[in-house]
Amino acid sequence: MERQERYICVIGASNWDMFTYCDRIPVIGETIKGTDFKVSFGGKAANQAVQASLLNTKSLGDDVFGNNTLNNFKIRGVSVEHVNIVPGVPSGCASITVDKEGSNNIIIVGGSNDLLGEQDVIEATKTIQNASYLLCQLEVNLKTTLKALSIAKESKCKTILNVSPVTNDTEMLMNMLGCVDILIVNEVELIKLSNDHQVDVENLESVHHGARELLRLHIMVSDVIVTLGAKGCVLVNRLSIDKYQHIKHRDNATMGKPVVDTTGAGDSFIGALAHYLTTSMLPLAESIERACNVAAICVTRYGTQTSYATFLELSPEDQ
Ligand code: ATP
Repeated sequence: MERQERYICVIGASNWDMFTYCDRIPVIGETIKGTDFKVSFGGKAANQAVQASLLNTKSLGDDVFGNNTLNNFKIRGVSVEHVNIVPGVPSGCASITVDKEGSNNIIIVGGSNDLLGEQDVIEATKTIQNASYLLCQLEVNLKTTLKALSIAKESKCKTILNVSPVTNDTEMLMNMLGCVDILIVNEVELIKLSNDHQVDVENLESVHHGARELLRLHIMVSDVIVTLGAKGCVLVNRLSIDKYQHIKHRDNATMGKPVVDTTGAGDSFIGALAHYLTTSMLPLAESIERACNVAAICVTRYGTQTSYATFLELSPEDQ
């Protein structure tokens, strides 16, 4: 039966996130005492699907992981139509260290995520092609991601690629970006991808320059969004490549609360952006502004998915 509703399809990884909170991140060889330890559901694809779903979009997660994660998806309203469990294979894990400023560093072990293959994606062809948006990241096998993007490109499904974690496989990246409509990078990824080590992320003109270079290099991409943490993001559109828009969260989006943990803010932003693009038909810049407001909430709480805002928590203008 043909699907009539608009939905988002997410292909990628799910992890167990293990958070260690400490005053500062230790240097190599150093042992320090932490202040707290928490475990939660994570993984870029899973986070993005959950954030979109919490804002009331029905989304689809495609991955291989454990029973607890499956239950979490169900509780959070994410469809698990193409999610499988691989017997005897451990789930992906992320060890995350967060300092007292809320900054983090992360080590990921892929586990079952590494077994998500092209065949799994081929089996989900109809689901991908009938989606309004396909969201991909680079936490699973790049061939799998490329397959998903190319399947989407054979249909009207729009594609969003979050080049994270960034890859050194430039040939694969070129192929993937040949199937991408909206490219999302953070500051570090912009520097690595733009081939221009002069990009100064403190300077918006320089960020614009880097984003413009990405549009010139990858001619199928229509928009580049560079996320800049607390500074919001920069949007550059192919049709007005010599201009950029700097978009930020509303001043009161955090309701005066301090930033405690920025982990997963990028995924909250992307999940929320896909939600607004799918449900509201707003122009991209306005959808980005709302997504910034959603992501600003999660940095005031601990964890990844546990910190994400629900529809009812949003101010009326963002609902
Ligand atoms: P991560 O990998 O930790 O998920 P990221 O590096 O991919 O994050 P960021 O650029 O840090 O992504 O943040 C994504 C978006 O989240 C920003 O564009 C912004 O809208 C929001 N954001 C991040 N940090 C803050 C902050 N301190 N205050 C308000 N909003 C924030």
